[in-house]
Amino acid sequence: MAADCIFCRILSGELESDVLYRDDDCFVIRDIAPGAPVHLLIIPNEHFTRLTELTPTFYPVLGSMFNAAQEMAGREGVRESGYRLIVNQGDDAGQQVPHLHMHLMAGRTLTAMG
Ligand code: AMP
Repeated sequence: MAADCIFCRILSGELESDVLYRDDDCFVIRDIAPGAPVHLLIIPNEHFTRLTELTPTFYPVLGSMFNAAQEMAGREGVRESGYRLIVNQGDDAGQQVPHLHMHLMAGRTLTAMG
């Protein structure tokens, strides 16, 4: 938990947000500024800023995050039509929130990356 982190504050209930999914390792909310008809954020409960901080004990959490993505893609009706999972890391990727998270984007044909 980082006191000044938006996602930690959502997890603790201090900031209001509609949590769509939760398990022991991660939770899912809708992105506040969606870039696609379906735009979810899959967020680990534990506060990490970057992938470089991860240790092997965190690897199961990454599995839970992909499981959450699969579950939510089904619930949102995009499992068959397709979806994109994105992790932005650092300034060049445009990371805004310094708490590791994965975007799930879907619901239209997504344009090329980069
Ligand atoms: P990133 O650029 O990968 O760090 O993405 C951070 C994302 O968090 C952006 O797409 C923001 O729109 C989104 N975001 C920021 N604050 C909130 C919030 N309170 N609730 C939902 N999404 C948020």
